[in-house]
Amino acid sequence: MTVRRVMGIETEYGISQPGDPSANPMVLSGRVVTAYARELGLRAAQTGWDYADEAPLQDARGWAMDREFADPSQLTDAEDPTMANVVLGNGARLYVDHAHPEYSSPEVTGPLAAVTWDRAGELVMREAARLLNQPGMPPLNLYKNNTDGKGASYGTHENYLMRRLTPFADIVKGLIPFFVSRQVICGSGKVGIGTESQRPGFQLSQRADFFETEVGLETTLKRPIINTRDEPHAVTEKYRRLHVIIGDANHCDVANFLKLGTTSLVLAIIEAGAVTRDLSLREPVAALQQISHDPSLRTTVRLEDGRELTAVQIQREYLAMVTDWLEATYGSDVDSETAEVVRRWGQTLDTLATDPMNAAADLDWVAKLQLLQGFRNRGIEWADPKLRAIDIQWSDVRADKGIFHKLAAGGRFTELVSAEAVAAAVHNPPEDTRAYFRGRAVTQFPDQIAAASWDSVIFDVPQRRTMQRVPMLEPLRGTREHVGELFDRAASADELLNELLR
Ligand code: ATP
Ligand code: MG
Ligand code: MG
Repeated sequence: MTVRRVMGIETEYGISQPGDPSANPMVLSGRVVTAYARELGLRAAQTGWDYADEAPLQDARGWAMDREFADPSQLTDAEDPTMANVVLGNGARLYVDHAHPEYSSPEVTGPLAAVTWDRAGELVMREAARLLNQPGMPPLNLYKNNTDGKGASYGTHENYLMRRLTPFADIVKGLIPFFVSRQVICGSGKVGIGTESQRPGFQLSQRADFFETEVGLETTLKRPIINTRDEPHAVTEKYRRLHVIIGDANHCDVANFLKLGTTSLVLAIIEAGAVTRDLSLREPVAALQQISHDPSLRTTVRLEDGRELTAVQIQREYLAMVTDWLEATYGSDVDSETAEVVRRWGQTLDTLATDPMNAAADLDWVAKLQLLQGFRNRGIEWADPKLRAIDIQWSDVRADKGIFHKLAAGGRFTELVSAEAVAAAVHNPPEDTRAYFRGRAVTQFPDQIAAASWDSVIFDVPQRRTMQRVPMLEPLRGTREHVGELFDRAASADELLNELLR
């Protein structure tokens, strides 16, 4: 049996203009999106985002059709960078969110594909950086991280499709101890303790210090461990899109794979009512920070029932519940990807329990700490600005400047997805979700797409008097199996629509 779940990762990239700290990050972000869109020849007509909830169809047409992309080097404050919003041929969304360029991956159905299309986003940003760092243009750098070390934090969000009928209270109760403890595996590591790195030191997570509450709707203020945003982008009565804002951007395949894979399995046991052990924490927010601040992983946190457990021990409790449930539900008939999640999860926890540094090939925070320890051994203090600079440089998207990418080229990390597969994912959508329909539509009929969103594509074809919205409220429809041949056969968007709407 295959344990699948629709999921996607959004990553806001850090952005800076060296030499000009006052540069408006929103304008810079607008340049990133428009530069990439222009390079690909994405024209205004195919780049509208369909804000179906907010605007009537005519409005979507209005701005999507009229807007032409400015030359990115000429973009001024007068242009509204928040309008920069494009649908890529791989089904992803590239846009400006607050003051950051953001790549929201297409919907996929498993952790390996999630890693693949998340890494494709790194290549998109790398290409945008290349386009914007030409002679005569002010330099611009992009980082796949979650804090600038000076008090600003920006998100990496995970999104998971869940059944609507699962009580939200079960999700909250089942997930909080899991999220508080999973940073030992998927934290990206940060130099400095506190939101502004006020105290010298190193911690597991980039984000932990920025969380203030257990449950809430906010994502940029008073950040909650569990976010209550409820925009399913799918049939509302059937589905919930769980919006997870507590996670770091990962570079390591294994950490990223485990982040998505283990979380999805924990959601499965919550949905199945198979959370048999109560791991409720007495003070979740404090525990989150205590765990993050201790790279030795010896810190224990208090549970409601009085027990004191380390984060690794809490993770082992979840692993045991997942293993029991898989065994009871599927026996030995579990798909290989799920088996791989469980195997690597157990192995990683064993390594972390013996010597965390042995996980340097698999986990971001360990790899980063190992590098920094080299400098520490030469007498450089945690408070030294040099170490902070290395922390930032770790995440630079450029192959020849980003420390992670340089080490990766030397074979330092376990690779679960090949560079070739990632390169292919920049232009090709996943085949087993509606992202396939979206990606193929914008690739094959770029001139005839007025707008698109997660749950619809709007065609504007000359043969038709009105625009035609193709709703896609079922994330698992519009796959290659469903519509691949239709696209292969269709000589025009009109033909495609005729077939589709028959
Ligand atoms: P933000 O948090 O930036 O304000 P957002 O969370 O509303 O935005 P997007 O940036 O548009 O959303 O990204 C949505 C992400 O959710 C994408 O990665 C997409 O693949 C994924 N996604 C879309 N629909 C679903 C769904 N029904 N279930 C799970 N994931 C989904
Ligand atoms: Mg987003
Ligand atoms: Mg989001």
